Amino acid sequence: MRPIQARISIGAMAHNLRVARSHSGAARVFAVVKANAYGHGLSRARRAFASADGFAVLTLEEAANLRLMGVEQPILLLEGIFGPDEIATCAELDLCPVLHHAAQLDWLQQQPPARPLQVFLKFDSGMHRLGFPLAGHAAIVARVRSLPGVAGVTLMTHFAQADEAVGVSWQLSPFLNELAAHDLPWSSANSAALLRYPETLGMWTRPGIMLYGASPFADQSAAELGLRPAMTLQSEMIGVQTLQPGEGAGYGLLFRAEQTMRVGVVACGYADGYPRHALTGTPVLVNGRMSRTLGRVSMDMLCVDLSECAEAGVGTPVVLWGEGLPVDAVAAAAGTNSYELLCGLAARVPVEEID
Ligand SMILES: *Cc1c(COP(=O)(O)O)cnc(C)c1O
Repeated sequence: MRPIQARISIGAMAHNLRVARSHSGAARVFAVVKANAYGHGLSRARRAFASADGFAVLTLEEAANLRLMGVEQPILLLEGIFGPDEIATCAELDLCPVLHHAAQLDWLQQQPPARPLQVFLKFDSGMHRLGFPLAGHAAIVARVRSLPGVAGVTLMTHFAQADEAVGVSWQLSPFLNELAAHDLPWSSANSAALLRYPETLGMWTRPGIMLYGASPFADQSAAELGLRPAMTLQSEMIGVQTLQPGEGAGYGLLFRAEQTMRVGVVACGYADGYPRHALTGTPVLVNGRMSRTLGRVSMDMLCVDLSECAEAGVGTPVVLWGEGLPVDAVAAAAGTNSYELLCGLAARVPVEEID
């Protein structure tokens, strides 16, 4: 069998939820499990996060699966409904849709659900992605509260720079000031906000990435935040080459040896979810020792430097990210973020679940 495997730890995920809860104070916690729980599997997330106050997903299908698995907590639909045909299912499954554009209000008005819904009314406080403009809040809130299909309203916004030095106050202040008069519960915090800005907690927090043991910050590691990596992508060496000075390895011979050296070939490539944009120098653990990738990543293989790994040969274990090698370090070297690497884990990679 091809030796690649992702080990996913339920215990680490449960631990990370406890960290999120400890930072959330009295706020309730939606465990964000969109994108197959950031690549970790919806069913595993449901078990690891059984004590969450709610779950946040993107699609009706994810929400329906959670209900089938026995989830009884509130389920937030992060982008709400994509058409009027989804209203009935929201009522049947008791889901909380986000409302962020006017057509969604029209749909609810024209086809009120059999049972009124708890909705999250999203305002754009500066990210300019989803949400109603703050300026028109009085009319929007009044309209939503008057809809017979709406049982309760929680106000919501999302931060564009919670992970950066500039922070959240330029968005949070107008959001809270403009909407204060409505005296409604609110939700704003993603992982970065709840970790750094307690003033963002509100009624509900919405941690995602931290639950999987990665850091939302470039300047603070997951370990420093007390988080444990949930996914370890590991494989083995399936070949060893010796390069003479001037010889290259991999497509394009992008890496060339300056002196005689051994190169290991690892059973992991971009079809497994390893980033093809990772160039020479991306960190990799060979037999527990830090090394680096060499040259281009292939579909099914990549090359690593064995200069400092004299004992390594076919069968030597290699960690691509996870235990001992933060996914954030690999992401930084590949010019992306941990989110993309984790949720890009390919379906062909077998998963071993561990405690
Ligand atoms: C994905 C998402 C989150 C979670 O963000 P993290 O950075 O992963 O913590 C929170 N809120 C909304 C609206 C999201 O789409």
